[in-house]
Amino acid sequence: MIDENKIETLLKNVSDPLAVRDILKKSKNLERLSLEETSILLNTVDEKLWEEIFEAASYVKTKIYGNRLVLFAPLYISNLCKNECLYCGFRASNKDVHRQVLTQEEIHNETLALLKTGQKRILLVSGEAYPNGKLDYIIDSIKTVYSVQDGKNNIRRLNVNIAPLTTEEFIKIKEADIGTYQLFQETYHKPSYKKLHTKGPKSDYDYRLQTIDRAFEAGIDDVGIGILFGLYDYKYEILSLVSHIEHLEAKFGMGPHTISIPRLEPATGSDLASNPPYPVDDETFKKIIAILRLTVPYTGLILSTRENPKMRHEAMNLGISQISAGSKTNPGGYSSGKSVEQFSLGDHRSLDEVILDICSKDAIPSFCTSCYRLGRTGLDFMEYAKPGDIRKKCLPNALYTFQEYIDDYATEETKKIGMKMIKKQLLDIPESIRERVITNLNKIKKGARDLYE
Ligand code: SAM
Ligand code: SF4
Repeated sequence: MIDENKIETLLKNVSDPLAVRDILKKSKNLERLSLEETSILLNTVDEKLWEEIFEAASYVKTKIYGNRLVLFAPLYISNLCKNECLYCGFRASNKDVHRQVLTQEEIHNETLALLKTGQKRILLVSGEAYPNGKLDYIIDSIKTVYSVQDGKNNIRRLNVNIAPLTTEEFIKIKEADIGTYQLFQETYHKPSYKKLHTKGPKSDYDYRLQTIDRAFEAGIDDVGIGILFGLYDYKYEILSLVSHIEHLEAKFGMGPHTISIPRLEPATGSDLASNPPYPVDDETFKKIIAILRLTVPYTGLILSTRENPKMRHEAMNLGISQISAGSKTNPGGYSSGKSVEQFSLGDHRSLDEVILDICSKDAIPSFCTSCYRLGRTGLDFMEYAKPGDIRKKCLPNALYTFQEYIDDYATEETKKIGMKMIKKQLLDIPESIRERVITNLNKIKKGARDLYE
């Protein structure tokens, strides 16, 4: 899957301006880049050329995703873990962490607290150690989250970020109706991986790397992959991630739906987390985002609250399509949390504050879950997304879900700015469907919920 020698050779590629500009032309046609082309962009040193790369990434982002930003929040249900990831506050030997495995009642309360802030999309996160050692705890928790109502509102999409599963377990979790199954390789560099994951099932590099194959084989067609930046050389990591995607595309005809790009953050009881072996500074981080946007234009890019508001803005323009907001990374953090967070957050603002800020940057927040509800996932999503048609459905859906948020949860200030924003965005909707969108928005104002294209 990962050809180390090939990657090492590609890392020595010298990037010349002509080659870079040819690749950027291809990108502007919204075409996916090859491993070799990605390496040429990565090896660019000339800052002027980087300006052109950033400009191309912004172009692709706007062409495909418009100015929408999809919002979600993580829900940590347990920090019990049998692994020793040296960078993580939840690792088994860390005595500074109060362990908590939420009961179903507590998960209910957490979900309700999230719903009451206006969230519709949740990412369920857990350490790797379930009560009775079985997946049943996760399945029950998924059912609990979906069962909670706040008035007419409920969680419409639950993604999960949990330890690797067997094929049989993937079949079970698919039946529980998850959205995306997310798993980060952390580092694709095997020697670093071995050094950083010293005990527990996660110390098996190959088993983790093969997890997405097992998920696809079990019929899950919506997966997310990722890299924890700071553990090894970012160029090596990106080329490995692209190799991973090429492997999935060759074997299953489709790649991941999303890529997450966390950067290592300080975590209680971890010296390594505060002193990353390969720190990634802000300028480099922006380059990473731009290159990924250009390499896989149709794959969602996710940024978490690990990043501060300034970086989140810049990242949005360069290619990020989803962000978490109003997040807590400790079990029980939304309703009663006393336990320690998994790592430090860079953005402590509430969901409403983040939304206000998004609007002030002339962007539009979205809680849309329509593709998944209409079965536009996996290959179907790719077919639908590729011609750039995504905008015709995504913008109306963003406006519907934003209107719901305005009516049910927004502060007065956000309401005012939000209504102006919706009015302005309506002008961007093709005339042929504008009347229908206005009618639907009026229905939502009168109490209808969950309308989508
Ligand atoms: N336990 C499962 C696993 O490790 O795959 C899933 C949950 S784990 C809490 C989710 C992710 O948190 C990990 O994949 C890792 O990338 C990230 N993480 C761990 N420690 C971190 C830190 N100090 N800073 C930023 N992200 C961190
Ligand atoms: Fe456990 Fe995941 Fe943290 Fe590793 S990253 S210690 S597996 S919770």
